[in-house]
Amino acid sequence: MSKGGAIIDEREARVIRKLGFMGPIALLGYGYLSLSGVLPGRAADIVGYLAMASFVVIALFHIIFNHRNKLQASILLLMYCFGTTLFTVGIVGFVSPLSIFWPLLILAGHLYFRSTGVQITVLALTASLLIDTFLYYDSSMLYMLQNAATYAIVCATATILVKLSQANRLNWIELRKTRSAELIQRDRILALINNLADGVIATDRDGIVQVYNAGSLNLLDTNEKLDGKHINEVLSCLKDEDNNSLKLSPLFRGTPKPVVRDDLSISFGAQTLLIELSFLPIRTAYSEDRPVTYNHDGFIFILKDITRIKSLEEEKDEFISVVSHELRTPITITEGTISNLQLIAQKGDIKQDILEKEIHSAHEQVVFLSKMINDLSTLSRAERGVADTPELVDVKELAEDLYHEYSPRAEHAKLTLDLDMAASPGYIHVSPLYIKEILQNFLTNAFKYTKKGGVKLIISGQKDNVTFAVKDSGIGISKPDQKHIYEKFFRSEDFRTRETRGTGLGLYVAAKLARKMNTRIELESRLNYGSTFSITLPKAKK
Ligand code: ADP
Repeated sequence: MSKGGAIIDEREARVIRKLGFMGPIALLGYGYLSLSGVLPGRAADIVGYLAMASFVVIALFHIIFNHRNKLQASILLLMYCFGTTLFTVGIVGFVSPLSIFWPLLILAGHLYFRSTGVQITVLALTASLLIDTFLYYDSSMLYMLQNAATYAIVCATATILVKLSQANRLNWIELRKTRSAELIQRDRILALINNLADGVIATDRDGIVQVYNAGSLNLLDTNEKLDGKHINEVLSCLKDEDNNSLKLSPLFRGTPKPVVRDDLSISFGAQTLLIELSFLPIRTAYSEDRPVTYNHDGFIFILKDITRIKSLEEEKDEFISVVSHELRTPITITEGTISNLQLIAQKGDIKQDILEKEIHSAHEQVVFLSKMINDLSTLSRAERGVADTPELVDVKELAEDLYHEYSPRAEHAKLTLDLDMAASPGYIHVSPLYIKEILQNFLTNAFKYTKKGGVKLIISGQKDNVTFAVKDSGIGISKPDQKHIYEKFFRSEDFRTRETRGTGLGLYVAAKLARKMNTRIELESRLNYGSTFSITLPKAKK
């Protein structure tokens, strides 16, 4: 039984409403013809007219209310029982072909009110039999037998109809359950594929698109409907490495096998995406109309944007190639210097100044190698997140340590080093290793690229932040170079830069560490006047 106002299944209700309306009209027609003497029937009397009147009321009731709720249905059923009893007794008699109306009425009673409905309608049937017998009993055996047989046939037919309806109802309920489970499952799968970033397109065996997701529209940069189109047309924008349109037809032939192509691309104006396409035949054990020659029931196409993966791979390859190149140069120089030394040693004629020069040159290369390896290992630590645990760092202590570490270097380079620090700069909560690495890089560069004047380490505290700045009076950085200094292996072409050795990794690593601390490096620089590198971090409470 359905919920709410409707008390029986909508499908059954539609049939019953039609019958419920046609029934009284047909009986009215029959009654009229019978009372007018055209069809056989009992003589017109008050009961017959009452029966006719009640069918008119039932038909009107139908038109007005359409018996959608329980109350209306029960009124209607009682009116039917009443009208049919009067019709039986007053117009056609109990033994009549029109008694076939009774099993239908019992069935309707069952559909609406189950056993109560059957009891009420059978009660009306029995009342008709009794009234008919009481009024028209002609004391013949035949009359009794005919009445009893009609009663039995009506009851048997009604039982069969009720049983059939019950069986049908069970099947219908089962079917509805299966269908709704199937719809839920379908919705789940659709929600799933619609939430995938990858494009998914399913076609039938002939390659006609049946289902597709939002991801496929994004990747193909379209908002057109794809269903009903051939997959060749849908994917015609995919190009292979030779810029030829993708040919899908060979994939469909014979017994299709899964195929993955990662050499495809799609272009929208200036932008090109690299695409991986997976093609999978749908193998299914269930298909009603699958011809024997098919062992699949359509195809799935999965489109994946692999632009980023490919560019990361390329970046990694490029990085390895640049690093090995950068390492090879000092190693070759060191190797050459050492073989020279070997030759000098073999000759036995060792000149002190040449020996010192060669050893110094080899040492310089080894120092450079060690610096580069150091930078690389810092980079790798930063990428892996090693030692990135934030700790409370005393700014004053950090600044003084750096000042003492770099003072000898300043002295050696005949430059000044000043520490300009706010009275109580407070604390920061960061990885001590990261902040030290960044400031050491600023200071090392400041000394490396300053010939006269000096370097200043400035610590200024604002209300919530602390700014660390390293200011030098060195060679400065040109505007075009300022855009590139955070790129890996970048070194300025300025000859004064080239006078010093450097890996071009220091600021790349420093910028990466700054990003990890949710801040960025600021630079103010003017060629030939000097540079100021700074970084600002939030203050922390002790
Ligand atoms: P390097 O090992 O070459 O110093 P960095 O990544 O630390 O590598 O710096 C990249 C480039 O930025 C340097 O080669 C140099 O051209 C420029 N640079 C960095 N710091 C300074 C500075 N204080 N003064 C002038 N140029 C600088």
